[in-house]
Amino acid sequence: MLCSMRLKAVEMGLRLAGKMEQWQELEHKFFMQTVKRLPVTLVRGQGARVWDTEGKEYLDFVGGWAVNTLGHCHPVVVEALVEQAKTLIQASNQFYTIPQVQLAKLLVDNSCLDRVFFCNSGAEANEGAMKLARRYGKLRLNGAYEIITTHGSFHGRTLATVAATGQDKFQQPYIPLPGGFINVDYDSIGAMKAATTSRTCAIMVEPIQGEGGVNVPGDNYLKEVRAWCDEKGMLLILDEIQTGLGRIGSLFSYEQYGVEPDIMTLAKGLGGGVPIGAFLAKERASVFAPGEHGSTYGGNPLVCAAGLATLKFVIDNDIPAKVKSMGQYFVAGLEKLKAKFGFIVEIRGRGLLLAVSFDGDIVEEVVLDCLKEGLLVNQVKTNVLRFMPPLIITEKDVDEALGILETVLSRRL
Ligand SMILES: *Cc1c(COP(=O)(O)O)cnc(C)c1O
Repeated sequence: MLCSMRLKAVEMGLRLAGKMEQWQELEHKFFMQTVKRLPVTLVRGQGARVWDTEGKEYLDFVGGWAVNTLGHCHPVVVEALVEQAKTLIQASNQFYTIPQVQLAKLLVDNSCLDRVFFCNSGAEANEGAMKLARRYGKLRLNGAYEIITTHGSFHGRTLATVAATGQDKFQQPYIPLPGGFINVDYDSIGAMKAATTSRTCAIMVEPIQGEGGVNVPGDNYLKEVRAWCDEKGMLLILDEIQTGLGRIGSLFSYEQYGVEPDIMTLAKGLGGGVPIGAFLAKERASVFAPGEHGSTYGGNPLVCAAGLATLKFVIDNDIPAKVKSMGQYFVAGLEKLKAKFGFIVEIRGRGLLLAVSFDGDIVEEVVLDCLKEGLLVNQVKTNVLRFMPPLIITEKDVDEALGILETVLSRRL
């Protein structure tokens, strides 16, 4: 009791002082240390800008980790949340609720998929998608249950999605992992074919690997994977958690690759900042029976109202087309930097999921230097810098980011 009172007093004092170091000390004391955070405590955001406890402003090219598609606190998202918060927040999925049905309809009307399940995160969306694929295997493919995924992929942090994530650093701490997952090389149809057996029920890939370093496959890769799935009767699961909802310049990235998935997973950009995930399936793959999957919070009225407002805005304002041209503008600027700085190796990505690779492990320092200059960017690898800004950024924002980058990189000449 005394202890919690003392803590309250400490907290109050800190709020008044607004000293970010003190919040950071408290975090070190009370929080499990699973992430090495940057030395900034953010308190407010608006559009593509955020502010810290000291009142310092930053241009945000991380965007809540590719989540805040409409920027911070966009009025349509805020209004939808406030209205819904005053009306009905949570009801449980034992009952019909309206925002959930509206959001499901909007997703189906604007994609090649027929049915939706809502959950609370990307990992959960992939878990659900993989469970659906296993049901399909049990019912239609003589009990096939294995799922082929790729090296360098990222599918989430639950045990099964870690087994699906083909990266040693995520898997090593948790071995033995759940079985039934085969990781093969990305962008290699040969590797997929070699790993396929009568036990395989599905292939799951990201159209562009996000966390793996913004790795863009060859133009034919997804088509070849699709054709192979068709030949073997297996399902194709596209993890569009990072690439979907306008991020790469089309509402869903499968549109750009000329394929249709049987199952697609979404999360990050779906709720405009609130935690929501979803997986969608074609009718023929939609084989769950009542009771075979569920979620207490999944698709509750509050998050679906935010999702509906976000997705409607993205569609009504043709944000994907704007992303495409803004991405091209950004890439043109990055190419100029590449011409000036010999230590830039490659510019890659599509739309507003972009990365710059360097010939050395300088990205940690570059990120910290950008931070000092008022720009938030992401270290996706020790030698790869990633940009995943809100989709509503302007040319002026891009110019400003490029200017800061140029300043920071010039110091390394
Ligand atoms: C972020 C991400 C996930 C995991 O989403 P969480 O909400 O963190 O569970 C899965 N797949 C891809 C491609 C992602 O980018």
